[in-house]
Amino acid sequence: MDEKQRQLDLRYLRMAKIWAENSYCKRRQVGALVVKDQMIISDGYNGTPSGFENVCEENDVTLPYVLHAEANAITKLARSSNNSDGATLYVTDSPCIECSKLIIQAGIKRVVYSREYRLNDGIRLLQQAGINVEYINLDNYVSEQDK
Ligand SMILES: [Zn+2]
Repeated sequence: MDEKQRQLDLRYLRMAKIWAENSYCKRRQVGALVVKDQMIISDGYNGTPSGFENVCEENDVTLPYVLHAEANAITKLARSSNNSDGATLYVTDSPCIECSKLIIQAGIKRVVYSREYRLNDGIRLLQQAGINVEYINLDNYVSEQDK
């Protein structure tokens, strides 16, 4: 991995983390960006479908119709003139198995994430599909502003 790509990866991951702040979910805030040819072509954070109340949990349990950040970013592309074929997905948290299926079918070729999840079946599926998966712990890098 060359240094320039590493710096880009860190910046996009930080942006995904900032984007996650849009989520009104309380238990976990997840952000995702789809980048192709060095352009952000889509974004997403976890939340309810369009037209539903902006509440993710009931009695501290996530509602079944909440969409994950990756699913929101990928389905947003279905309504745009862009497509994710060959793109990179930056996501704050390791993708679950349901999102991993979407990532594979969306033609995404690389996934960069920064927080491990207790289940890794999603990551395993991505790797089986030949997708380049990379884990970067953002806590190991101080941002340029902090130097
Ligand atoms: Zn998911």
